[in-house]
Amino acid sequence: MDPFETAVAVSQMFHDIDRDIFIDELRACPRRSLGNNEVLIRPGQENHSVYFLIDGSLSIHLEKPKSQPIRIVHPGETVGELSIIAATQSSAYVLGLGQAEMVVMDQSLLWELVEREPKIARNLLLVLSGWVVKSNKHTGQQLRTLETLQGLARMDGLTGIYNRRSFDDMLHRFLQRSQRTGHPMALAMLDVDFFKRYNDGHGHQAGDQALIALAKVLGRAIRPSDFAARYGGEEFAFLLSDASLEEAVVIAERVRLAVMEQKIFSQDGHPLPSITVSMGLALSDAQSNPESLIAKADRNLYHAKQNGRNQCCYQQD
Ligand code: GH3
Ligand code: MG
Ligand code: MG
Repeated sequence: MDPFETAVAVSQMFHDIDRDIFIDELRACPRRSLGNNEVLIRPGQENHSVYFLIDGSLSIHLEKPKSQPIRIVHPGETVGELSIIAATQSSAYVLGLGQAEMVVMDQSLLWELVEREPKIARNLLLVLSGWVVKSNKHTGQQLRTLETLQGLARMDGLTGIYNRRSFDDMLHRFLQRSQRTGHPMALAMLDVDFFKRYNDGHGHQAGDQALIALAKVLGRAIRPSDFAARYGGEEFAFLLSDASLEEAVVIAERVRLAVMEQKIFSQDGHPLPSITVSMGLALSDAQSNPESLIAKADRNLYHAKQNGRNQCCYQQD
C-alpha cells in the first residue's frame, strides 16, 4: 500500500467512514513536505489548514522548538484542527521530525466533510478531547478548548440547538428545582407530522431544512428560562419552568402556530411547503421522575397523532 492509503487506513479521523465520502477530495488536496526541524506552525500564527500526516513524523513543542516535545505525530494523525475548531491562533510549535509528508486540508474542506458526515465530527471530537485530557499542562488556552469541545458535544450538529444528552441533564435539573420550589414544570414532546412523506416528496435535504427551521421557531417561541432540544430524528422537546397547565398550553399553542407559519427554504433559496407538528404535554407533580414525565408526554403525543395531528394534547391522568 502507498503511504497515503496506509495513513487513511489507520487514521482516527476517518475511522468507520465510507471512503467515497472523502477520499477523492483528500487525494486532490495539495501536499507539503517538511524537512527535519523545519517549522510548520508556530505559536500565535493564524492557521487555516489541517495537516494530515502521511509519512514521517512531526513533533509538537509548547515553549520553544528545542523544548521537550509534548507529543509526536504519526502517519494518519493530524495537526492544526485544534486552532480551527477553537477559532484561536496556534498555541504550539509543530516541527518536522525527519522528513515528513503531509496532505494540506483547507478548513473549508474540513467543515464541508463534517457537514456531509457527522461521524467525522464525532471522530474529531474523540481525537481532540483525547489529547486535551492527556496533556498535563492545563493552560487557559487548553481549558477554553476543552470547553469548546464539551459545548460541541452538547449541541445537535444539524440544527444547532441542544441535543438529547443536554435534554436528559436539563430535565433532571428542572424536576429537581420544581420539587424544591413546589412549582410544577412542564414538558412538551413534539413530533413532525407526516415527515416521511415530506422527505419522500421533497428530498432529505429539504427535510433537513425543515428541521433547521423548526429548531429556530422553538428557540424564538420559548421564554429565556425555558429549554428546547432536539430529542432525536424529527422529535423535539421543550421544558417550561414554573408553568401552570394553562400557561404551558398557551406556549405550546404558540409554538404550534409559529411552526405552521414558518417559511421554509431549500439550500438554494427555493420555497418549500411548511410543516405541522403534534405535541404532547405533561405537567410535573411531587411524584414525577424523568421517565414518568416523558411517558406521560409521549402518551399525549400519541393522542394528538390519533386525533388528527397538528394539535397539542394535554389530558392529565
Ligand atoms: P407521523 O405523523 O406519524 O409522525 O409520521 P412521520 O412520517 O413523521 O413518522 P415516521 O416515524 O414514519 O417518519 C419519521 C421520518 O423522519 C423518517 C425519517 O427519515 C425522518 N427523519 C428523521 N431524522 C431526520 C433527519 O435528520 N433529516 C431528515 N431529512 N429526515 C429525518
Ligand atoms: Mg417520530
Ligand atoms: Mg413524525
